[in-house]
Amino acid sequence: MRLVVASGKGGTGKTLVAANLAAVLSSEMEVVLVDCDVEEPNAHLFFPSEEKVLPVLIDVPAFESSRCNHCGNCSDSCQYGAIVVLREQLLFFPAMCHGCGGCELVCPQGAISMAKRPIGHIAFSTPRQGLVLITGVLHEREVMSPRVIREALNYASGHALVICDAPPGTACPVVETLEGADACIFVTEPTRFGLHDLTLAAGVAELLGVPSGVVINRSMGDDDSIRDFCRARKLPVLTTIPFDRDIAETVNSGQLLTDRMPIMRGQFRELFSRACVLTGV
Ligand code: SF4
Ligand code: SF4
Repeated sequence: MRLVVASGKGGTGKTLVAANLAAVLSSEMEVVLVDCDVEEPNAHLFFPSEEKVLPVLIDVPAFESSRCNHCGNCSDSCQYGAIVVLREQLLFFPAMCHGCGGCELVCPQGAISMAKRPIGHIAFSTPRQGLVLITGVLHEREVMSPRVIREALNYASGHALVICDAPPGTACPVVETLEGADACIFVTEPTRFGLHDLTLAAGVAELLGVPSGVVINRSMGDDDSIRDFCRARKLPVLTTIPFDRDIAETVNSGQLLTDRMPIMRGQFRELFSRACVLTGV
């Protein structure tokens, strides 16, 4: 089963929920936690541990300038504007290249061959028994987040329980993480901003056909607008986490609620059971 923990906006507590779920369940079964927030991965802060790192490579063209006659075929065929051919010069912008290989196919001079370029890496660790943490990391100045996310998810595939900490927002990286998931837990906060972004994110999950539920974080009992929205959209509220000083201090010090506050273990186990109901398992 692949369970995604997502949110329409950053800072709602999605990593907190994903990390605590993974931690509490890992005492009973093998869990793989995948940090898909590849531009700012931070789940590892809850699980400091030695990491093994593998690069994420994409194909990029390498040009043999002595063969090039500046015909412009490669530039014309590149959908991403990664190649510009001038009268006597060819300019290549690696960060815009998606590695499709089309330019190599259309070059009449055989001046292009494909080489590898690292755009990120995947870090693996086993911070506690029963838990594998897979962290996708996009390198600075790179833009192809979905490629790194896909690779991180590939490493996790085949495991019985995979929990994904999704990137915030509703763009391509979120779609890459959500697509094919068995269920999604949206973490929101009871504010106008939380409701606005939950509305957008829930729409993405609906379009992708992923059954979803909602966790209301930092609740002070004033959750009516979120609950009304959930009722209207038939999204079950799976649990609420109170706005609480002890919780804030525990999280801010990088500790897990389920390690420090025994009452939370039951709450997160119950959250998992309710998420399983979403999937029909
Ligand atoms: S590999 Fe594809 S995306 Fe990259 S430069 Fe060639 S045509 Fe453009
Ligand atoms: S298609 Fe080949 S020959 Fe034509 S400009 Fe590109 S690299 Fe040069």
